[in-house]
Amino acid sequence: MKKNFLFFLILLIQPLFCQEKAQKNIILIIGDGMGVPQITAGMYKLKNQTALENFPIIGLSKTHSSNALITDSAAAGTAIACGEKTANGTLGISMRNQKLTSILELSKQKGYKTGIIATSTIVHATPAAFYANVISRNQYEDIALQLVNSDVDYFIGGGRKFFISRKDKRNLMKEMSDYDFVNSIKKFDESESNKIGYFTSSEDPYPIRNGRIPKLSLAVEKMLPKLSNTNNPYFLLVEASQIDWGGHKNDIDYVLSEFIDMNEAINKVLEFTKNDKNTIVIVTGDHETGGLAIISGRIRNFQMKTEFSTIGHSAAMIPVFAKGPHSEIFSGIYDNTDIFKKMFFVLNN
Ligand code: MG
Ligand code: ZN
Repeated sequence: MKKNFLFFLILLIQPLFCQEKAQKNIILIIGDGMGVPQITAGMYKLKNQTALENFPIIGLSKTHSSNALITDSAAAGTAIACGEKTANGTLGISMRNQKLTSILELSKQKGYKTGIIATSTIVHATPAAFYANVISRNQYEDIALQLVNSDVDYFIGGGRKFFISRKDKRNLMKEMSDYDFVNSIKKFDESESNKIGYFTSSEDPYPIRNGRIPKLSLAVEKMLPKLSNTNNPYFLLVEASQIDWGGHKNDIDYVLSEFIDMNEAINKVLEFTKNDKNTIVIVTGDHETGGLAIISGRIRNFQMKTEFSTIGHSAAMIPVFAKGPHSEIFSGIYDNTDIFKKMFFVLNN
């Protein structure tokens, strides 16, 4: 009798000790063209504070590509998404011409739900690095075709035309019959499908200062419940794409407005994951754009005078912010390819 009781007791409490380690959710936020100067200027614009101050771990990444000291977003996206340096312009293909597997695809193999949000087209270099393999980032229609059979469950971004007005006359939105296509963030929120596509525009989405909808924070707010509503873990990529475009235009107000849109999205993510010990949030950039410097200013109202030194990218190291389980491995100075390797560690531990 006593023996029986003990047996049942052990059976009852056994799951408490033998539980498999819970898989970690990964939220990766990339500010395209965001280096320390963009963060600094954005912080002063926000009266000397930014969401990035909430991250306990900071590292620096070396961004050069395999063939250029100054990377482009395709090679940098490939390094972060797939863990290999490749030539500028190339997406998801190595120097030895091999197709690479992205962290999003690897997470899918482990049963993750996946999502991508971008403020560019969904076929633009940075988001495409997570699901496509093409020699040239400009093969937008080929990239669109690769999204059809990709591992992306939910996506929000521009570029509808690459799916429906194509040289091959195919209508990919029709072919993607497993997706519920919605045309507003409200409909996205209401959809109960486990695959949802929301094209926010036919071509490039507007800059936020010209009224782009939805705000990145709203897209994140509606995406996260979809990803987290089952027992499956999730991987989410959020790209603030247009910080880079403001840099190329040497337009500081464009840069700052896009930074603020991203900053609000980071706050939303931190709010959502506040009591969640199972989610790591990583924020980084792919490279710096514009060679931005703050050259004078005043403490009063944190006014700034800024200057750009190029209309292209620069080779500056880029900060990596991390918060959550295993975040400590993101401290130090390392290659951008190590961001992939560190996420891969999180995926497996
Ligand atoms: Mg980009
Ligand atoms: Zn750029």
